[in-house]
Amino acid sequence: MNLHEYQGKEILNSFGVRIQRGIVASTPEQAVEAAKELTDQTGTSWYVVKAQVHAGGRGKGGGVKLAKNLDEVKRISDEILGMMLVTPQTSAEGKLVNQVLIAEDVYYPGEVETEEFYISVLLNRATGRNMVMYSTEGGMDIETVAEETPHLIFTEEIDPGTGILPFQARKIAFNLGLSGNAFKEMTKFISSLYKAYVSSDSAMFEINPVLKTSDNKILAVDAKVTLDENALYRHKDYAEMRDIREENPIEVEAKAAGLNYVDLDGNVGCMVNGAGLAMGTMDLIKQAGGEPANFLDVGGTADAARVETAFGIILKDQNVKAILVNIFGGIVRCDRVAQGVVDAYKNMGDKINVPIICRLQGTNAKEAKELIDNSGMEIISATEFQEAADKVQVVLA
Ligand code: GDP
Ligand code: MN
Repeated sequence: MNLHEYQGKEILNSFGVRIQRGIVASTPEQAVEAAKELTDQTGTSWYVVKAQVHAGGRGKGGGVKLAKNLDEVKRISDEILGMMLVTPQTSAEGKLVNQVLIAEDVYYPGEVETEEFYISVLLNRATGRNMVMYSTEGGMDIETVAEETPHLIFTEEIDPGTGILPFQARKIAFNLGLSGNAFKEMTKFISSLYKAYVSSDSAMFEINPVLKTSDNKILAVDAKVTLDENALYRHKDYAEMRDIREENPIEVEAKAAGLNYVDLDGNVGCMVNGAGLAMGTMDLIKQAGGEPANFLDVGGTADAARVETAFGIILKDQNVKAILVNIFGGIVRCDRVAQGVVDAYKNMGDKINVPIICRLQGTNAKEAKELIDNSGMEIISATEFQEAADKVQVVLA
């Protein structure tokens, strides 16, 4: 589950990571009030208005702007709120901005130059360990840095038994070229950031940029946080941070129905029981020359009601031109699933406007095939996996 910048910063702050402070607002009037309050809290006289959407690169798309007085806060907030923000990480139509963060200006002039760093904490899947990834090239698109100057990206692996050790935090601060107070602040920043990541059961914390201010403070200007959904039951307060306006509406509906659904770009809808078989099904569709429209695991109880819900969700995707049902009947018998598919088909009438290829294998597979073939419904049956994928290509041709 992804969070907004302001929510990620709230978590960071609660673990003692210094942040660029701010107050969130939904209207230009609220933005002005937020700015006044922020000045009371921090003494800042300049502000940054930052679009809150689940996408990076907001600055490039005009979603992050400096305001030098309250009038500008109002005008810029009015401009950004309600806009469709297009960034390198959104689709062409962009994302609707519902909220802005009014943040203190932290790039004020002072005795030393400001510096921007990149720091993230995430899992290294190759080693199964968490790592801190960091670079002196902050504020830039990290993918570009990885492509053009990969030698400027460093990683520090963390032993899960000990957590991050003081020498590791010092090594990172040293490699970032820091000294004096900034060095000390950075070691504290790193260890608190790591603690925030582990304690919140996160999948990723990405801070780009981490800023060294002109008076040698280290703070998080941005925060991109992905929480591990499977651990949300341990963090009720974080679970409430979900903003479904940012999520794919079909996926939200599927989740509410207890279905494990992921929207994809292709045109072959898939209904499968079991995540492993669902992955295998998508592979086979691709191998046969097609493109899956979704991942969908209907789970163990593929009864008529569930199958109907699943059909409904798959068909919400306008790109779907055929549906492949691939069910393995182990504990749940194939003939019961077949009956479920037939009943669902009957119930839905002309709502089903694409061909359905149904492959049932396992307990009572033969009875299931007969049931489908004799149902009078336009469902194409198959017994073999390959046969099913090929039949999909035939109906699409
Ligand atoms: P992103 O574009 O979505 O990654 O949003 P960021 O929060 O990283 O902000 C983008 C850029 O806005 C930063 O790299 C900074 O250059 C600039 N920015 C952010 N905060 C301030 C600020 O307080 N003052 C000024 N002058 N610029 C800022
Ligand atoms: Mn950023």
